[in-house]
Amino acid sequence: MQYRFTTRFGGVSQAPYESLNLAYHVGDNPKCVKKNRELLQEVMGVSKLVFMDQVHGDKVVVIENGDETPTCDAMITQRLDIALAVMVADCIPILFYDAVHQAIGVAHAGRVGSQLRVGQKCGQAMAEHFGTKMSELRIFMGPSIHACCYEVGQEAILGFEQFTHLKNEKYFLNLQAYNREAFLAIGVKPEHIEISKECSSCGENYFSYRRDKITGRFAGVIAL
Ligand SMILES: [Zn+2]
Repeated sequence: MQYRFTTRFGGVSQAPYESLNLAYHVGDNPKCVKKNRELLQEVMGVSKLVFMDQVHGDKVVVIENGDETPTCDAMITQRLDIALAVMVADCIPILFYDAVHQAIGVAHAGRVGSQLRVGQKCGQAMAEHFGTKMSELRIFMGPSIHACCYEVGQEAILGFEQFTHLKNEKYFLNLQAYNREAFLAIGVKPEHIEISKECSSCGENYFSYRRDKITGRFAGVIAL
């Protein structure tokens, strides 16, 4: 198994998408996005690299042949030659690995997707389709917006109260902790959950929608 979280560096896109933008839907030159995806696929050394049309939902799709671009926010597979990718610019890119059944998954978890439990649903889909046990599942949460920068309106903290702190009369949400708790609740072991400490918004290495609005997307990528 190999996985990586890309940064904004090493691609061919021009400002404001400089330079490794992996998303077609953000207004970048499609030729540059195509080249950037090819560069990533080459680094991963796989014959197919699958992206999703992400819609902030909770649908999980099983990838069978690697030619599809499903509309969903999570994918799983046991295919050896396929890498799965999840694009983000502040949302949490979550990667899943079951070493026992040799299965992988990815999920796109923003605030809405997290509340819909897209991460747990991805893990549960691996259980259903591949026999994955939650006690054996490994979770990697990549660079994303952390509580230092993730200010939300009061209406957005409903259901997240335990993971919100108040500073200068503003609410800040810890979405990584929310997802961690949700994984623990379905039986994932704490030592199997890794959370990147890098904040996409105050770090300069990543695209951040919060910070820049018109910008690219980086990705979490995993392959067997
Ligand atoms: Zn920050």
